[in-house]
Amino acid sequence: QGDPVALEFRGVGKSFGALAALEAIDLAIQKGERHGLIGANGAGKTTLFGIAAGALSQSAGEVRFLGQDLAGKRPFERVRMGMRRTFQSSNIVHELSVRDNVALSAVGITPARHSLGTAALKKARSQADDLLARVQLEARAGDLARELSHGEMRQLEIACALTGTPRLLLLDEPAAGLSVAERKRLRTVLAELDAGLTMVMIEHDMEFTMSVVSRVTLLHNGRIVTQGTSEEMARDPSVRAVYLGRQ
Ligand code: ATP
Repeated sequence: QGDPVALEFRGVGKSFGALAALEAIDLAIQKGERHGLIGANGAGKTTLFGIAAGALSQSAGEVRFLGQDLAGKRPFERVRMGMRRTFQSSNIVHELSVRDNVALSAVGITPARHSLGTAALKKARSQADDLLARVQLEARAGDLARELSHGEMRQLEIACALTGTPRLLLLDEPAAGLSVAERKRLRTVLAELDAGLTMVMIEHDMEFTMSVVSRVTLLHNGRIVTQGTSEEMARDPSVRAVYLGRQ
């Protein structure tokens, strides 16, 4: 309905002192689009995520989410609007069960701060089980999070990110450190998520990126170099150069 754009950067810039980490970023991601952000180390990918999520404020330009200007919106307000971000370093509580990690994410509290009524906890756990099924982790629901493999931990992080009413997933290097089999499983999990969910992914594994996303933007030194469909970008010499440079 209405505006087809989920997330939009208009003329966004970010400086850290004399360093321009991002300059004149214009990028519109459509609702339901799966978009890859690629580029060498220091290109500005994480900075762009930080600005979208409200962890950093831009030095110039505007960010819009579902038609609303995000100026002045705190990170938790953006979460309430449906924005979810996963991090390279996990924020899973290792001594809790897999199910309770998702349940806590669903109720938005940490165990140290509050205790939950039995009915609320039961409801949150049942929601958690639904989400765990969506990320193919239902068999591990009762296990402690610390018992999960690296790949299962990523699946759990995604289940946590899906609590509430997610509209946009910002995934920070979801495939990093995973085995070939774990990547394959994660790819299936991501591919099977609700088609209406918008996804932006920072990822260094080109094959993984191209198999999950439909459009790709290449950043270099804080600027957009090129963008296009996955097929176009897979053939683009500047994209190849970034990845060959990493070998
Ligand atoms: P990587 O692939 O290594 O994660 P990236 O594309 O995510 O890289 P950013 O982390 O966004 O790149 O960094 C962009 C530039 O901004 C880099 O030159 C980095 O050193 C600089 N930078 C990032 N955060 C800060 C900060 N808090 N203070 C100063 N400089 C920063």
